[in-house]
Amino acid sequence: MSLLPEIVARAEAVVDLDAIADNVATLKRRVREHAPRALMMTVVKADGYGHGIVEAARAARAGGADWLGVAVVEEALALRAAGDTGPVLSWLTVPGEDLAPAVEAGIDLTAYSGEELDEVVAAARSVGRPARVQLKADTGLGRGGALPDAWPGLVDHAAAVERSGAVRVTGVWSHFACSDEPDHPANAEQERVFAEAVQAAEAAGLRPEVRHLSNSAGALLRPWSTYDLVRCGIASYGLSPAPDVVTPGDVGLVPAMTARTRMAMVKRLPAGAGVSYGHTWTAERDTTVALVPVGYGDGLHRLASSRAQVLAAGARRPVVGRICMDQLVVALDDAVARAGDPVVLFGTGEDGAPTAQDWAEAGETISYEVLTSIGGRFRRRHVSRRGLADPTPTPTTTTTTTTRTTMATAGGGER
Ligand SMILES: *Cc1c(COP(=O)(O)O)cnc(C)c1O
Repeated sequence: MSLLPEIVARAEAVVDLDAIADNVATLKRRVREHAPRALMMTVVKADGYGHGIVEAARAARAGGADWLGVAVVEEALALRAAGDTGPVLSWLTVPGEDLAPAVEAGIDLTAYSGEELDEVVAAARSVGRPARVQLKADTGLGRGGALPDAWPGLVDHAAAVERSGAVRVTGVWSHFACSDEPDHPANAEQERVFAEAVQAAEAAGLRPEVRHLSNSAGALLRPWSTYDLVRCGIASYGLSPAPDVVTPGDVGLVPAMTARTRMAMVKRLPAGAGVSYGHTWTAERDTTVALVPVGYGDGLHRLASSRAQVLAAGARRPVVGRICMDQLVVALDDAVARAGDPVVLFGTGEDGAPTAQDWAEAGETISYEVLTSIGGRFRRRHVSRRGLADPTPTPTTTTTTTTRTTMATAGGGER
């Protein structure tokens, strides 16, 4: 069952690194059913979707991630500083950024345009080694990347600078707009445009190591779009990229983050009492309520006021009234509880607690935003039975005594 030790902190986000490793392995196995040589890129941008970039990356590599993906250069360099030496792709810069450290660190950069490619070339020349660069096609997302009319110019330019020795064009890629909606016509259209972009790159003389299009939803729902690798973010953390279509359980994924806290106070409110700012909720009868010491200042969404639920006093309980900056109130009806008792905001769902997806629905957002928002005064804690919470990348001993791995002995059998 659960890896979770008893909670003592006021509020903590417990990250099960074994779950991340297992999710990555599960996704890779699934993708390889259709594309046997496909590589897995685990996306660890935005502090590993709120799970801790370095720890998430370590768990992902343990689970078989061939590549790591990040948005910005600082994230890529943080991975190198933590000792990751494997392939890393980053994909978002602004003009004038210092790209030299990334070139030096062997990071794959992404060029959306000839101008951006020239900045990569300049960085490579300043460092005195060829830069690894991937070219991004805008096949219909309308965000980053070269549109079809600019693509031939970009690939010709890239081929020329590759011949000059300044860069190695290691990849050609694009990104879906609607892969969480399998029937959306944009998907097939993007696949068609991407196939043409790949062809044009090859016709220009480029021989990219990796061609890739799919995010988590593409990897799960459009296996024919795999090409050489898939870029999985949210699914690696155990949440569905397309909750209306597929649940984590359907594909053997387990949410890695549990956000939990403890009751600061428990009291009985009389019938008619209003709760929290604006009195948007009123007790219909005498009701026990718990004060829970987390709020929107810690990353919970205020829109989930009077809609979200938590696991408290042995059952799902409603958040009542407005979520405040530092606190919220949960109605316990007539349940018995005491200050200090645990409250699970969201977790794996196994124990009856809500999931990040449930909070997403309550807050009219997506699980991605729920996970990346958790911060503020939550204390993050990494747990693993396999030594993945230990900063040593490949533990060779079987016992550790650090507090980070005490959970290894806290749980029972396997999940
Ligand atoms: C964030 C991101 C991903 C991962 O998307 P998920 O839906 O979390 O799998 C993949 N590729 C790019 C370019 C991204 O920005």
